[in-house]
Amino acid sequence: MSTSVTLSKVRKHFGSVQVIHGIDLSIDPGEFTVFVGPSGCGKSTLLRMIAGLEPISGGELRIDQELMNEVPAAKRGIAMVFQSYALYPHMSVYKNLAFGLETAGMKKAEVAPRVRRAAEILQIEPLLDRKPKQLSGGQRQRVAIGRAIVREPRIFLFDEPLSNLDAELRVQMRVEIAKLHRDLGNTMIYVTHDQVEAMTMADKIVVLRLGHVEQAGAPLDLYNNPANRFVAGFIGSPK
Ligand code: ADP
Ligand code: MG
Repeated sequence: MSTSVTLSKVRKHFGSVQVIHGIDLSIDPGEFTVFVGPSGCGKSTLLRMIAGLEPISGGELRIDQELMNEVPAAKRGIAMVFQSYALYPHMSVYKNLAFGLETAGMKKAEVAPRVRRAAEILQIEPLLDRKPKQLSGGQRQRVAIGRAIVREPRIFLFDEPLSNLDAELRVQMRVEIAKLHRDLGNTMIYVTHDQVEAMTMADKIVVLRLGHVEQAGAPLDLYNNPANRFVAGFIGSPK
């Protein structure tokens, strides 16, 4: 029941400046794909175009073969995970998870089991009555992921979700997100500028540079057969 994502010659301009230059990419159903590359290479812009938060300037975006270019974000079946500080500070954990569904008009009786299920998956059931400031960094991050899970999306997008966590917690959350992917089986796209995250989490790595794809493939293929010095340097292949 997983979902494919296909980009054909996708471009993005901001005014007269082109930041994404004709990207071709296909993501298989259920794949965990990592977009990696230096700051400013276009990772977030690409993710936001897939989510429908940013219009596409040219080319085609398809989800399960269906053309998405003009489909509004809310109709794409995509949920995006933000950094944990995007939680509503004045709401309980339960309300943080329920709020988006309730504002979308879902009945309370339908919202409650979804929230319970997400809380169970993330093992945050005992925290549902707390406020975000009463949570640890890792617990907050789980709530941020929970807000995506309750929407039961076809695709999960993560934009550097761990960048404001300390090193130890980052390692722990990587493992948890990988487990989430195994348990749910959804197609997931994960953006990071961290090579270690890319190498340890990805089924497929897409190395971006200046709005182009330098190389895409399985982590070990990129490591063993980097297409050029940039990929080698970025992935950490031996010279
Ligand atoms: P990354 O996430 O890889 O760091 P971004 O996708 O945020 O990169 O940015 C890619 C390029 O697009 C950068 O040069 C950035 O300055 C530019 N950019 C991003 N958003 C906008 C915007 N709203 N208006 C103008 N330029 C933008
Ligand atoms: Mg970014």
